[in-house]
Amino acid sequence: MSRIVYVNGEYVPEEEAKVSVFDRGFLFADGVYEVTSVLGGKLIDFAGHAARLHRSLGELDMQSPVTDDDLLTVHRTLVEKNGIEDGLVYLQITRGAADRDFAYPEGAAPTIVLFTQSKPGLADSPAAAKGIKVISIPDRRWGRRDIKTVQLLYPSMGKMMAKAAGADDAWMVEDGQVTEGTSNNAYIVKGNTIVTRHLGEEILHGITRAAVLRMAREAQMKVEERAFTVEEAQGADEAFITSASSFVMPVVEIDGAPLGDGTPGPVARRMREIYLDESRAAAV
Ligand code: PMP
Repeated sequence: MSRIVYVNGEYVPEEEAKVSVFDRGFLFADGVYEVTSVLGGKLIDFAGHAARLHRSLGELDMQSPVTDDDLLTVHRTLVEKNGIEDGLVYLQITRGAADRDFAYPEGAAPTIVLFTQSKPGLADSPAAAKGIKVISIPDRRWGRRDIKTVQLLYPSMGKMMAKAAGADDAWMVEDGQVTEGTSNNAYIVKGNTIVTRHLGEEILHGITRAAVLRMAREAQMKVEERAFTVEEAQGADEAFITSASSFVMPVVEIDGAPLGDGTPGPVARRMREIYLDESRAAAV
């Protein structure tokens, strides 16, 4: 079924949506994005995603073509027009169309595109009950992973490497330590302590990460924000990943080594439940 998408101020059927071949998002990956989950027709942590969008734009000297109020309206309108119960809203802003030149153009109008993807039963995925398997791969991305840009080719290659190895995803390793998953933040659990890499330019500052760490502290768990190795992860009690569209997802195997008894651990299951409950309650 054809969707209604949003392009530069207009709601149009997806077949009619157009972006210039000179768009710098297309030519230089000169653009940023956000993915916001929808549960029960409502947006999960919209404010967090809007705040990170501004940070990404700021780091690239780009202006938002819309206010946050307008952005919320567009998100809600697309959810409604496309009848999304569970799924996501994807948002992309690029520097716009200009003659091809590495230097940023003066005065190009940013391009803004939003679309929805319906994912019925998003919160009760079978993967969450079973847990996922990850492999480790070298982190060969650029150095500013804290900016949520659309240059996602290496993460795509990583997912394909995981598939080829019979796994579900890949954790990337730099200087001997795990940075993050291809499209998620990575965690291990030891006793009552959750360990996840500290923030910096090496990883994306996950909106789900911030929420889950806050909720873990509120639930009297200990949180350590520091790097860890694949070996430490393989010896941990449990592991999990977080992202806006997978929420909290247990990891049950790393590079072929099962964690614990090879089933989702109690901390990951509990954090998933807390995250989903609280996020649904706060959804807009
Ligand atoms: N790290 C990377 C590299 C990602 O692509 C994502 C998801 N886009 C995340 C972490 C998780 O971020 P969030 O919780 O904001 O979805």
